[in-house]
Amino acid sequence: MTTCPSSPRRSFTRAAYRCQCLERTLQDETFPVKVVAFDFDETLTLITYLIEDGDSEEVQKQIVKTNFQTPWVKGSRIEHLQSMLKALAISKSGKRRALAVLTKNYAGAKAVHNLLHVSGLASCFDAIWALPTGGLYRCKDEWHEMCTPNVCHKADLLALVAESPHEFFPQLGSDAFEDMGPLKMEGIVLVDDQRANFQSPSGNQVLRFCKVARYDGYYRNLGYVKNMGGIGAHCFEDYETLKMFVEEPSTYKETLHLHCVERHFERSSEQHPVELIIFDFDETLTLATFMPSDPTFEEISWDLPSLEGSDWTAEDLLTYNFESPFCSGSRLQALKAMLEDLSKRYVLAILSRNDRGAVAVLNLLRLAQLADFFAAIWTMPFRQQVSCGAWKADAAWHVFEAPLLEVPDEKTEILYHIVENSGKWFPQMEDSGQSSGNLGEDGPLFWTDLFHRNIFTTFG
Ligand SMILES: [Mg+2]
Repeated sequence: MTTCPSSPRRSFTRAAYRCQCLERTLQDETFPVKVVAFDFDETLTLITYLIEDGDSEEVQKQIVKTNFQTPWVKGSRIEHLQSMLKALAISKSGKRRALAVLTKNYAGAKAVHNLLHVSGLASCFDAIWALPTGGLYRCKDEWHEMCTPNVCHKADLLALVAESPHEFFPQLGSDAFEDMGPLKMEGIVLVDDQRANFQSPSGNQVLRFCKVARYDGYYRNLGYVKNMGGIGAHCFEDYETLKMFVEEPSTYKETLHLHCVERHFERSSEQHPVELIIFDFDETLTLATFMPSDPTFEEISWDLPSLEGSDWTAEDLLTYNFESPFCSGSRLQALKAMLEDLSKRYVLAILSRNDRGAVAVLNLLRLAQLADFFAAIWTMPFRQQVSCGAWKADAAWHVFEAPLLEVPDEKTEILYHIVENSGKWFPQMEDSGQSSGNLGEDGPLFWTDLFHRNIFTTFG
């Protein structure tokens, strides 16, 4: 028997938990969103268990919790969904939007309605369309059956909705629902956890869409569950992201460029220069992060010969982590040139949510010959057995205990803390006698500004 070489294992990803809203290149960017359609399974639910005839009230309650409530974000997810849906139903200019559920759940529209009803979400929607055929629409508090064309792909059905919205929302134009006027494909947003639903083999495309994240995890008493979903299940920001997207979809152009923003803040007009640039590591400096599983990779004494006999060569590590198959030339060389240039004028540091710790990040950067450009590396959350801080003095790296326990486990909170306690995050400052505790010289006010503008971070 031969042993298969183990496949590269990504060590961490956070970006993977967020929903992603995109607008494709389209003709009429100014056309407003008039319909928002939600997939049901793993988009509204985290995982779907339907209510069956004869289920007791207690069982129904458990099913609702399993379907909709998340153990990963504080508060009631059902309440978050209700308030998001309420906000989506009325545009900023006061126009009513139609909200629909578009599902391929084999149990059909009635079963989906039943679950939504018991969860207190049904009244947030105007219609439920189940593929390949069947649907319900709501007129005030009453739900009525309707016929929908026999269509197998969501993008094909939405193309028909765009052509004749009245067929899919028969209540349009009644006192229950003012007519929405002409509709186009541009006017429909589909929220779904499966990318394939955004484009039909027929050529029909959903032009504005929100892709809900999928993930695997240990869930309640169900053990390890694969391919779970649910908007907002891991990231509270999902609700706000979708609301902003539906209001102004053209600010979410499908593009692979990075996007830099300065928020407005008091004294922003004074234009203090940037001093410190903090990079995320996973999926920001790397495309995806792969590290040797060998625990010595987390030690500062780790060196190249340790890779001998492991599942990685140095070349593979560099290729998988840093090189892009999508651009010509070496991404690593370009990254190096950029960091070298930036490091001449600014202090560079890394703040990363990475379980392997600061030294593992450092070792990967050393291997890529990028470590020299940084002054400090911090990883979160705090872990007892793993060093969460490393700093550089005269080209030598030292581990230290970054003050992670003094601050909530959130990047923004940490940035505030860095502004106010720079010396605790950059031990080299204390070393060089700048023991005032801050990097700058202009006093606390300057540092407030520094947080708003002068620290430029890229989060994954
Ligand atoms: Mg789904």
